[in-house]
Amino acid sequence: MPINAIDRAFLSRLSFCLEERFITTFSIGDRLDVPSGALNSQRSQMFVNSLVSRIIRAAPVDDGLRLAITEYDLYKTGHRFLFGDADRQSAVAVVSLHRLRGEFYGEEADQNLLFQRVLKEAVCGLGRAMGLKACYDARCAMHHSSSVFETDNKMSHFCEQCDKRSRAERS
Ligand SMILES: [Zn+2]
Repeated sequence: MPINAIDRAFLSRLSFCLEERFITTFSIGDRLDVPSGALNSQRSQMFVNSLVSRIIRAAPVDDGLRLAITEYDLYKTGHRFLFGDADRQSAVAVVSLHRLRGEFYGEEADQNLLFQRVLKEAVCGLGRAMGLKACYDARCAMHHSSSVFETDNKMSHFCEQCDKRSRAERS
């Protein structure tokens, strides 16, 4: 689900790569408009819980996983920022492009690098929405990233252990 305008080709490529990894069908949902007035005005960031509530209200829970992609910078209590987050109960995952862009760190725009980072954080978020926990293996997609270096260092798929757990969660 795109939050406001997100490039359609980017979302198509993402859903294709997620289908390969989760062996299930992904489809691009309707765009959800969230005005910038919903940001915390002091932090210029979006409180992730309020974004998840909006997603649930816009599209009531079905039996599938849902992933929202946003340009907004996210935070939650106890976290200065988040690349993404997930809510197990509603099976909703959210990924923010904001700090995954090289431009945020003064680097040149790199669409391919951005895509790889988003894919890794999407796999991580969907894994958490399925009930997987953070993984200690720094190469595993389920490893929690607190910097883009950690995101760049991990794979866009689960380690053997997380893969086993994900199969158990699905069956
Ligand atoms: Zn793992």
